[in-house]
Amino acid sequence: MAPAGPSPIDPYTLDRDGLSALLDELGQPGYRAGQVADWLVRGVDDPQAMTDLPLELRTQLEDRFAPARPELVAHTVADEGHTHKLLLRFPDGEAIETVLMLYPRRATVCISTQAGCAMGCPFCATGQAGFRRQLTAGEVVRQVVVADAALRSGSLGGAQLPEGAPDHVTNVVYMGMGEPLANLPATLDSVRWLHEPDGFGLSARGITVSTVGLVPGIRRLAELGLPVTLAVSLHAATDELRDELVPVNRSHPLAELEQEVAAYRRRTGRRVTIEWCLIGEVNDDTDQADRLAAIARRLGAHVNVIPMNPTPGVRWREPSRGRTRRFVDRVRARGAQITLRDTRGRDADAACGQLMASYALGAGTRLPVAVGAAERIEQRGEGGR
Ligand code: SAH
Ligand code: SF4
Repeated sequence: MAPAGPSPIDPYTLDRDGLSALLDELGQPGYRAGQVADWLVRGVDDPQAMTDLPLELRTQLEDRFAPARPELVAHTVADEGHTHKLLLRFPDGEAIETVLMLYPRRATVCISTQAGCAMGCPFCATGQAGFRRQLTAGEVVRQVVVADAALRSGSLGGAQLPEGAPDHVTNVVYMGMGEPLANLPATLDSVRWLHEPDGFGLSARGITVSTVGLVPGIRRLAELGLPVTLAVSLHAATDELRDELVPVNRSHPLAELEQEVAAYRRRTGRRVTIEWCLIGEVNDDTDQADRLAAIARRLGAHVNVIPMNPTPGVRWREPSRGRTRRFVDRVRARGAQITLRDTRGRDADAACGQLMASYALGAGTRLPVAVGAAERIEQRGEGGR
């Protein structure tokens, strides 16, 4: 009996080095990897359709590739055609969400790195659903491929994209479902794919990785040596409040996180972003504003405030307009840079961080620290806040 060959792999899981190694193993000249990468970037993953490859190689690649093509199972359009939320299902039945946001000169894709999330942040719909599984690098990259193909063709899921939309993806934000730094291999490999000139060729600055603050992961991201924008979901400026809003803070408290973010800034030279999901009467007071401003100034970071999207099962709400304005003004007056972000896609549940609200709620697992936090929030909700 012939020995079993290597198991087939989704071609998008191979970065340029991986493709080169595979083609080298098949006895092919060096330039073939570039040819295959070109097809993949154009959304073609069927080796038989890669018409500039010799027939024999196409057949060999068919044996080596196991394309994990996602199926578009739901599509919601908001903001007059400028926001598209896609529910993509992989061959094993797991589904994730991807959001395409169109601006005059920008097309940003918000991508997922996990089906669900184990971090259990109590205000986040994905956190409520729990963790289901890691995505592969290929499954991460494929979300960009789907969006890019739509932009090239001018239509998505049967809907025309608005006039003047860019014809390719310009920015990628890792702000969909899951915690990117809890799936480091797929996050780092996919960042490489998106950045490499033979891959999508996106500028590192156009790629933003958002994290809840996993300190070892931030270090690894810095070691990648690419000036990718780091967004840190802070949401609270004291350990006491952050332990509750972001349960993983109990493992990596604020001082440790701040130190690592400062190191990221020094190492990459990139300005870091602080994300602050503003929750009415929870983290919108002047004490939090003052402490946030101090952290942002020390880090030279820009603060993005996102009013909380309502999440099923959580009674917390976004603050009133007056409180929101006072919070933003206070942080600014204390000398930090701050922007109040638009709430893209809210009318279709499509805002980043508001994914999975309608899908498979409560089916996954959570970190033990997150379970305790969720229970306290539920009790608080029942108390009629
Ligand atoms: N896990 C990563 C990336 C995905 S979440 C992280 O937490 O950073 C992307 C962003 O959406 C985070 O800043 C998150 O805090 C925010 N978010 C989550 N739930 C939200 C909600 N209900 N309203 C507004 N923003 C939310
Ligand atoms: Fe996970 Fe981010 Fe949601 Fe927290 S905010 S539960 S880390 S997806």
